[in-house]
Amino acid sequence: MPEGSHITQMDTVKHELIEKLSNIVGERNLLQGDALIQRSRHFNDARPPEAIALVMPTTTEQVSKVLASCNAENQTVVTHGGVTGLVGGDHSSSDDVILSLERMNTIEDIDLQSSTMTVQAGCILETVQKAAADADKFFPLDLGARGSCTIGGNIATNAGGLSVLRYGMMRNQVLGLEVVLADGTVISSLNHLLKNNSGYDLKQLFIGSEGTLGVVTRAVLRLQPAANSIQTALLAFDQFSQATATLHALSSKLNGQLSAFEILWNNFYRLSTENIDESFSPPLDSDYPFYAVIEARGDNIQQDELAFNQALEQVAEAGDIADAVVAQSSQQAQQIWAVRENVECTKQYGIRFRYDISLPIANMEQYIVETEAELIEQFPNMIFCCYGHIADNNLHLQISPQDDTLTIDAANTTQAHHQANQIVYQPLQAIGGSISAEHGIGKIKKTYLHLCKSDVEISIMKQLKLSLDPKSVLNPGKIFD
Ligand SMILES: Cc1cc2nc3c(=O)[nH]c(=O)nc-3n(C[C@H](O)[C@H](O)[C@H](O)COP(=O)(O)OP(=O)(O)OC[C@H]3O[C@@H](n4cnc5c(N)ncnc54)[C@H](O)[C@@H]3O)c2cc1C
Repeated sequence: MPEGSHITQMDTVKHELIEKLSNIVGERNLLQGDALIQRSRHFNDARPPEAIALVMPTTTEQVSKVLASCNAENQTVVTHGGVTGLVGGDHSSSDDVILSLERMNTIEDIDLQSSTMTVQAGCILETVQKAAADADKFFPLDLGARGSCTIGGNIATNAGGLSVLRYGMMRNQVLGLEVVLADGTVISSLNHLLKNNSGYDLKQLFIGSEGTLGVVTRAVLRLQPAANSIQTALLAFDQFSQATATLHALSSKLNGQLSAFEILWNNFYRLSTENIDESFSPPLDSDYPFYAVIEARGDNIQQDELAFNQALEQVAEAGDIADAVVAQSSQQAQQIWAVRENVECTKQYGIRFRYDISLPIANMEQYIVETEAELIEQFPNMIFCCYGHIADNNLHLQISPQDDTLTIDAANTTQAHHQANQIVYQPLQAIGGSISAEHGIGKIKKTYLHLCKSDVEISIMKQLKLSLDPKSVLNPGKIFD
């Protein structure tokens, strides 16, 4: 009998299904009751996950059998990777089965001739990055949750992160996929070729589908040449227009080597540098309105360093950079990145509403000024900060309302969250923005999907969902109802 089970409280059908799943994955790979309670539901939520059971298959064949068995009983299934997603795509209820890919975490092959790596979906992103580096290659997807998030989760959310400017989103890193459909059918499309225009490219359907169309089990990833030289700098600007002018100037002067241009508003820079640790001193004065963490990657250490410094000097001479510090060692580069990556710096201020939006660069400054003013009217004591991947049109906002009447899970918090959502999301429609730049829609953004997708688009998305998962058993209530 599975560890910690309470089968007496279950109806017979569920009981039989759980026995079946236990036979498929093995007793030790199915958790219920007390064994489930010992786990955390999310990287930032220590409460146990809600589910009838959590299964951890070890092969694609097991995933297929689990899904076929659940589908036959109309049993809903929520797929889990590293549970670091930020839109509630991993949320489950006590009626769901959770399917975790954590035990399918093998790097199966690194092919240096075709510059590809074949991995199981439960591989941790950082493990993949390290394996690529050990093979003198580079896997460019990078984000703050690298130590916990999985390749399957990165694919399911079409993750973005810190290197999109040069290398694109997760979609651009995937050459082939193996996916299991709701009824257990395995689509094995483990293509290794850069060019393969043979009809519909089915893998694209599943990238970014947030576990609603199929379960990703394996992937062929594209590797890039390793960079011999990495230049990192922190820049400060007096005006937003100077930051955008610098972005454009460096993009052309560095011949495509610019791999990151991360903008920080003063409010984020202050909160971040004040909350790293006591010994941390801000790399630049804290009074500038805007900052940018920039990175360039190249092949020739001396030439690249010279070109990087010359490009910065030229932009500074044109009057666009107010101050700058260029990292002289990898340790200094880490300190600069620590400022950008300290996205938990508002955690101490209690309830937080976090946003991931995209909008034209030309609208960003005004949008933030107007949005902040509206938010202050609604939440006069709020802590507000803004940062993001400006070159990818992507900003992140964090709002801590600082209102003692708000408690987590209470109705008033839901209402306050909705009010903040309206203020942040509503103006995006008119300027061609999106309510999600990189995190997806999941559960928490689905009410606002109509602001960035037309009725026709949503209708076709629903038709695709029904044709691949007619019983709607996969990740119910995510993206749309
Ligand atoms: C500190 C921090 C920084 C972050 N920075 C970024 C960032 O810069 N850019 C960015 O894009 N995201 C970022 N994120 C969000 C998150 O890390 C990404 O969305 C990541 O891709 C999720 O991977 P995961 O394995 O944790 O997926 P999970 O959270 O487990 O799942 C996410 C979604 O994918 C589905 N899913 C998971 N695995 C599979 C699978 N094998 N098959 C089918 N569906 C699956 C789930 O059902 C769910 O809907 C950040 C998160 C944190 C905590």
